[in-house]
Amino acid sequence: KELVVAIDGPAGAGKSTVAQIVARKLNYTYIDTGAMYRAVTWAALKGSCSSENIEGVTQLLQRMDISLKYTEGQLQVCVNGENVTAAIRTPQISRSVSEYAKLPAVRQAMLIRQRQMADQGGVVMDGRDIGTHVLPDAEVKIFLTASIAERAGRRWRELKGKGFDTDLEQLTHEIAERDRMDSQREIAPLMQAPDAILVDTTGLTIDAVVETILLIYKE
Ligand code: C5P
Repeated sequence: KELVVAIDGPAGAGKSTVAQIVARKLNYTYIDTGAMYRAVTWAALKGSCSSENIEGVTQLLQRMDISLKYTEGQLQVCVNGENVTAAIRTPQISRSVSEYAKLPAVRQAMLIRQRQMADQGGVVMDGRDIGTHVLPDAEVKIFLTASIAERAGRRWRELKGKGFDTDLEQLTHEIAERDRMDSQREIAPLMQAPDAILVDTTGLTIDAVVETILLIYKE
């Protein structure tokens, strides 16, 4: 049977890395909802549309086609046909995304698309509000966390690999700030669903986390 797996958690907990491997092992589709909010933010910044300009953001959403595709196992994100896979991972987008992700119009538009993407089952979807709002009936719900030091360290290495030389202390601050904004927003805040299983990945290898999730899945 094709199930639905929801993986939520704060920034840098390893959700996308782990969700992608779990999806591959189950032969499921991986849906990165953070990439969708990043794509909206990218389009807004490109169009110089501030998060206070609700009318502008609403129009932007109406004209915006976001597609998530796989090429050779790698997720490719396109906005109106333009490949933004790398552009949505910059520190600038990370710093702005929570401002746009809290807007009701943005959340509503993403919610509809995400539910459509999952309605056939056989998906692993990661984000902040998947188990609580987007797919409350998901058969498997995981809440992935790690200490702030570990999350910042992982993000630092990831950015370094992409050529961004960031300051670890500043990055730690930015991640904490993003979590604060994501947890405190009114609509669909970052939160562990009551029926989600908490997996703390501090000190665990990727393989160990994947194994843990597959065990939970098989139960
Ligand atoms: O997962 P990622 O770090 O790429 O997510 C970027 C941002 O998108 C989050 O910090 C949050 O503001 C927003 N987001 C969200 N709901 C989701 C997934 C991401 O609000 N389900």
